[in-house]
Amino acid sequence: MSANTIKVGGAETFSLVDFPDKISAVIFMQGCPWRCPFCHNAFLQDFQHDSGFIWDKFIKFLETRRNILDGVVFSGGEPLVQDNLAQAIQEVKSLGFKIGLHTGGYRPEHLQKILPLLDWVGLDIKAPLNAEQYAKATGVAPAAQIENIKQSLKMLIDSGIDFECRTTCDPRILTINDIKIIGDELSSLGVAKYYLQKYRPIESDKTTGDSDCEKFFQNKDLLQYLQSKFQVFDIRK
Ligand code: SF4
Repeated sequence: MSANTIKVGGAETFSLVDFPDKISAVIFMQGCPWRCPFCHNAFLQDFQHDSGFIWDKFIKFLETRRNILDGVVFSGGEPLVQDNLAQAIQEVKSLGFKIGLHTGGYRPEHLQKILPLLDWVGLDIKAPLNAEQYAKATGVAPAAQIENIKQSLKMLIDSGIDFECRTTCDPRILTINDIKIIGDELSSLGVAKYYLQKYRPIESDKTTGDSDCEKFFQNKDLLQYLQSKFQVFDIRK
C-alpha cells in the first residue's frame, strides 16, 4: 500500500511545541472515530474533507528541511485509523527524521505494528480509565474502547519508548478528583511523564469561563499531588 493515498488534513511546517526538545513539522491526519466535546480539530474527524494536501509534495518539502528540522509528528485526527500509516512513517524516517506520534490509543494492534518506527509518543488520556467516563469524554461508547486504551498504554510502558500521557482539563466533563484518579491510575501503571493541558472553549461553548478552565491549575493540592506521583509533571496552557 502506498503512502500516496494517505489522507492528510494539513501540516504545520515548523513547531517548537509538538515534539519535546525537537524542532518539528506536524502533519494532521484525517479521520477520527471519536467526538470529544473539547475537540478543536473537528474538521479532521471525517475523511471527506479535500484539503488539497499532496503527500509527494510534502516529502519534497521535507527533503529541503533536513538540516533545519529534527523530527516529524503524525497528529490528527487519530493517525492510527489509517492503514498505510506505517508506509508514510517509513518514507519520512528514511529521510533521517525522528518520528513522533500523537494518539488516543484507539487501535492498539496498529500501534503495535508501527511502534518500532517511533521515537516518541504523546498519548491522550481523556478521562479516568473506566468505560462510562471514557464514553462521556470521547462522545462515543463502543464496548471495547476502554480495553483498547489500556492495551495501548501497557504496550507503550512495556516498549521502553519515550512517551508522555496528557489530559485536557475540560471542566464540563472532568472534576479535580477525576484528574487525581487519572494520576493515581497512570502512576500505578508506571507512567513517568504526565501533563495537564488547559481547555480552551470551542466556538459553540458559550458558557465555560476562563475561571472554570483555570481551576485545575489554581489548585495547589492537585498540582503537588501530581508532582509527587510522576518523574515529570507539568501544565500546558
Ligand atoms: S481524539 Fe482528538 S481529533 Fe478525535 S475527536 Fe477527540 S480531540 Fe478531536
